[in-house]
Amino acid sequence: MLTEQQRAALDWQKTGDMMPAIIQHAVSGEVLMMGYMNPEALAVTEQTGRATFYSRSKQRLWTKGESSGHFLQVVSIQPDCDNDTLLLLAHPTGPSCHRGTSSCFSPAASDWGFLYQLESLLAERKHADPASSYTASLYASGTKRIAQKVGEEGVETALAATVHDREELTNEAADLVFHLLVLLQAEDLDLSRVIGRLRERHNR
Ligand code: AMP
Ligand code: ZN
Ligand code: ZN
Ligand code: ZN
Repeated sequence: MLTEQQRAALDWQKTGDMMPAIIQHAVSGEVLMMGYMNPEALAVTEQTGRATFYSRSKQRLWTKGESSGHFLQVVSIQPDCDNDTLLLLAHPTGPSCHRGTSSCFSPAASDWGFLYQLESLLAERKHADPASSYTASLYASGTKRIAQKVGEEGVETALAATVHDREELTNEAADLVFHLLVLLQAEDLDLSRVIGRLRERHNR
């Protein structure tokens, strides 16, 4: 996951073999936790794809999730500018904090993180009673109906922009994003896949 060059440049001497490793959610960017890695913990992390630390309290290698089953599936590792800190992107398989919360820090309040939280909530609603929530009732009405709503909200968004009504444009764009997320979920598509397509085009 690190290039040979990056691995060779790591400044273990400076960190006394205890390099801070920040774990960030691979999709939302939420900071999940921080731990220390020694060279062995880093090697195990790279080999297994599961974030593994050197636990100062246990005084041994510790794979996050070894007893809880809540692992951190690592998708990328990068050193910082002066090679004394690691930043890992990971997909958690459960709560990252031993208290049962997704992060060891207070809930991330960034706007983009909120969009991910909203999408996760909308995904859960697929299994909810249609009488209990508007989103659940949308799923029950079927893809065709949801698609129609997206079309309507798209037109309303366009009309609000045409008359330069910024307040109305904000409302209609929110309606559009909400219904688009529901439509994608109804078709089992995550927004991150859509973002991936945008990134592909950008890189071309
Ligand atoms: P786990 O690694 O999830 O199986 O949890 C095993 C033990 O590691 C827990 O009982 C805690 O003592 C500790 N632990 C789990 N998650 C964290 C965390 N995010 N930060 C610090 N310690 C943790
Ligand atoms: Zn640094
Ligand atoms: Zn914690
Ligand atoms: Zn609307």
